[in-house]
Amino acid sequence: MRNSESATRRTADDLDRDFAMLIDGAWTAAQSGQTFACVDPFTEEEWGRVPLAAAADVDLAVQAARRAFDTGDWSRMPAAGRAALLRRLARRIEDNADALAYRQIRENGKLISEMRPGSDVLAAACYYFAGLAETVHGLTLPVSAPNMVSYTVREPLGVVAAITPWNSPLLLLGWKLFAALAAGNTVVVKPSEITPTSTLLLAEMITEAGFPAGVVNVVTGYGRPAGEALVSHPGVDKIAFTGSTATGKAIARAAADRNARVSLELGGKSPNIIFADADISNAVNGVMAGIFAASGQSCMAGSRVLVEDGVYDEVAGLLVQRGSRMIPGDPLDPATQLGPVASRAQLEKILGYFDIAAGEGLEVLTGGRRLDRTGFFVTPTVFGNVDNSSRVAREEIFGPVVSLLRFRDEEEALAIGNDTRYGLAAGVWTGSVQRAHRMAARLRAGTVWVNNYRMVSYAVPFGGFKESGLGREIGPEALHDYTEVKSVWIDTGNEVIFPTG
Ligand code: NAD
Repeated sequence: MRNSESATRRTADDLDRDFAMLIDGAWTAAQSGQTFACVDPFTEEEWGRVPLAAAADVDLAVQAARRAFDTGDWSRMPAAGRAALLRRLARRIEDNADALAYRQIRENGKLISEMRPGSDVLAAACYYFAGLAETVHGLTLPVSAPNMVSYTVREPLGVVAAITPWNSPLLLLGWKLFAALAAGNTVVVKPSEITPTSTLLLAEMITEAGFPAGVVNVVTGYGRPAGEALVSHPGVDKIAFTGSTATGKAIARAAADRNARVSLELGGKSPNIIFADADISNAVNGVMAGIFAASGQSCMAGSRVLVEDGVYDEVAGLLVQRGSRMIPGDPLDPATQLGPVASRAQLEKILGYFDIAAGEGLEVLTGGRRLDRTGFFVTPTVFGNVDNSSRVAREEIFGPVVSLLRFRDEEEALAIGNDTRYGLAAGVWTGSVQRAHRMAARLRAGTVWVNNYRMVSYAVPFGGFKESGLGREIGPEALHDYTEVKSVWIDTGNEVIFPTG
């Protein structure tokens, strides 16, 4: 990278330094004193160091969260008080929207055109959960027994562990953190080792907003040992996880030992299905948004594009034409259309799939290689006439790599679309309203878009069928997953009759 470019990036984020974790309201180093590096995927340069947490640090954070919960100052605070603090946090997010976007871009290379609006969405989500905080309530239930009053209350679970991935670090954290806090839980966050500092920046805003010490703690480190220690800690009541399916399953197994609550948002291999009666140009743009945005590093990526025979050549031609013209460059430049992938490991994983594709004899319509420049750039890649049994069509690649598959009719589209162990999302492109409803009803996925792809709102539930997850985040009922239901019985009669023989 040239020096002038480097200087611009430093001005954009002048916060380079050694970072500290937040435990019990104090900024702390790891007890071992060890740190690990943050690497900018655009420059491949190290730009900061972060504490390398181990089990002892995790233990301190969980203890702090436990104490903060058990005092009741937070968990039994009137919901209006928690809502007011969340609104203060939302205002701080709005005021620091640029810094939050820059920090994430520095960490994972996503584009400013996506991440800057993402800061506004993060603030809006925080306001939304502040509103929801005051809607948590139980029911008064009629029962047949005389003199009985029975009602339910929803109480916070306790200490929530939030473990997040690198592809949308703050948005996916916000879905968990804001919901957990709104319901009165305390939280220990373990961000991805690729993107820890954006979470630390948000933690600064949490302390500035006035959340009591210990209510939110952040430990930075790797899945092993920090993540594992958090998941297996007896002081943790719930684990809210977003990441790969393999890690999610390991977490569910560990949590089962003590029946800790778990919600999982995992991987996908989502079908994006184009019928001949669709607006083809629009559908191809939807395919691009589904797989080339964020360089394909999206859990909901439309990585299998199913195309009806009669329009297959047209779709393939347009996709190759538009995909190969995408402008790679600095993620901070608003004109850039293709950023790097987030890490060297992710780059190598994607390049490994190019070898697998070659071994499977797949037809490369465009791309299939690393870009010859600094940064972890991969060419937008389209494989043609892929069979759904190939590894490239079955496994999550998490890069700008799409498989085109042909189908003859609606039944075959459904059969291929549903033939996956995943079930996170699906797209349908059609001009027929009848077909739209038929497909939405029969696709086995947590989200189905018709004539759109990749729309998400904090107001609409998100989560996976099958191996794509467990539970739902966001939406009007999101707080249910962060509360226990307690049933209360009150006998308003005078006497309990108990035959004493
Ligand atoms: P990952 O599973 O490798 O890591 C996710 C988090 O888990 C990180 O913080 C990591 O340190 C931690 N971790 C790793 N091993 C652990 C263990 N044994 N115990 C506890 N914590 C552990 O996933 P990633 O590579 O960071 O993210 C990419 C994956 O996330 C993809 O599979 C993608 O589909 C998925 N994802 C899903 C969604 C969704 O909402 N469904 C959203 C974004 C990403």
